[in-house]
Amino acid sequence: MALIVQKYGGSSVADAESIKRVAKRIAEAKRAGDDVVVVVSAMGDTTDELIDLAQQVTPLPPSREMDILLTAGERISMSLLAMAISNLGVEAQSFTGQQAGVITDEVHGKARIIDVSPSRIRTALDEGAVAIVAGFQGVTQHTNDVTTLGRGGSDTTAVALAAALGADVCEIYTDVDGVFTADPRIVPSARKIERISYDEMLEMAASGAKVLMLRCVEYARRYGVPVHVRSSFSGHDGTLVCDPTDPEGAAPMEQPIISGVAHDRSEAKITIVDVPDVPGKAAKIFEVVAASGANLDMIVQNVSAASTGRTDISFTLPADDGSIAIAALTAHQPEIGYTSLQYDDTIGKLSLIGAGMKSHPGVSARLFAALSEAGINIEMISTSEIRISVVTRADQLDEAVRVVHTAFELDSTDEQAVVYGGTGR
Ligand code: ADP
Ligand code: ASP
Ligand code: MG
Repeated sequence: MALIVQKYGGSSVADAESIKRVAKRIAEAKRAGDDVVVVVSAMGDTTDELIDLAQQVTPLPPSREMDILLTAGERISMSLLAMAISNLGVEAQSFTGQQAGVITDEVHGKARIIDVSPSRIRTALDEGAVAIVAGFQGVTQHTNDVTTLGRGGSDTTAVALAAALGADVCEIYTDVDGVFTADPRIVPSARKIERISYDEMLEMAASGAKVLMLRCVEYARRYGVPVHVRSSFSGHDGTLVCDPTDPEGAAPMEQPIISGVAHDRSEAKITIVDVPDVPGKAAKIFEVVAASGANLDMIVQNVSAASTGRTDISFTLPADDGSIAIAALTAHQPEIGYTSLQYDDTIGKLSLIGAGMKSHPGVSARLFAALSEAGINIEMISTSEIRISVVTRADQLDEAVRVVHTAFELDSTDEQAVVYGGTGR
């Protein structure tokens, strides 16, 4: 008998019919003799709709109240799913994040899990029930305030529970058949990846491939939880995210030069114009940005103009953090001594990921050539050992992803990738 944690994303439980379909799948797993814990997301685009609603009430909703509001989405789906499973003659009990023992820090909107004590889940399993847990939510250790884990956070709930319960596998059910070489919504000829290492999946997730939340992959790697990403709409095997040296990983993992192309349109670029090119200015700028709470991504400093001794510094950050960073920089303009700030949220980021690129020269040249042949200008570049990222205009990003995918011969020659549901929001 195995212990399986299954997570169903919003598009898998978008309406009553979908909930009944998923309930059948869960009942089958339970009847096959396994212990089953299910983590569920809010129905369809509920979370986005709740955010829109809050914004209609106030432009700046208090983060504590926002978290209470958003966790309501997962309460609806967890209880409906438990009812649908019970209706099939299988006992099911639903639990909020707090009831499931998900303890977090106090950072509303992007709380980190610091402990999971799933004693109530264990009891439910011992009683022969399927345990349904609301994803994306927890409770703070000291104040008992409700928190959310950041967008896509149900993936992290699932992996954290799998680790705490010592589950055999964590299955992430979504609206595509697994992790592909690019987002199938943009590249229909993308190929399904059979197996991918935690490191490559981390880079894909960090670069915008939202099929798995970044923190969920970090957590899975730290605790060695194998993650199987698959579709709740088909019976196909999906993608196994695992350690490439894991003996349980059956056949040795192939090490292609390139695993995939990820894209991200959620970032913005800030340019600080005419910064005095003297020691300490970059330190000051990034101290101010860090203190504002904004997360940084790429940084570029131009060559200083010899005649003026001044330079421009640009950096990218999540567009959601744009206003706090601009406010902080504006407040410190006299000390930093720059002339003006430019804010641009019409950028896109493309990232090429592959563990094999470490030992293969010429990957960047091929990437830049593909973009230039398509007439796509590169505005910024950054690299890690297994990733190259470039910033382009937002309206050229889809085309950029397609040409790069083709240039690295990633296109599938047989079937097209299927997107079973979801709105891609
Ligand atoms: P869920 O609601 O199940 O959590 P998400 O919308 O968060 O689903 O994630 C699934 C989506 O991730 C897919 O519909 C797809 O558009 C997108 N995606 C982006 N990059 C990839 C990729 N490389 N492989 C598969 N899906 C991807
Ligand atoms: N419902 C939350 C969101 O839309 C969490 C999740 O789906 O994983 O981000
Ligand atoms: Mg998701």
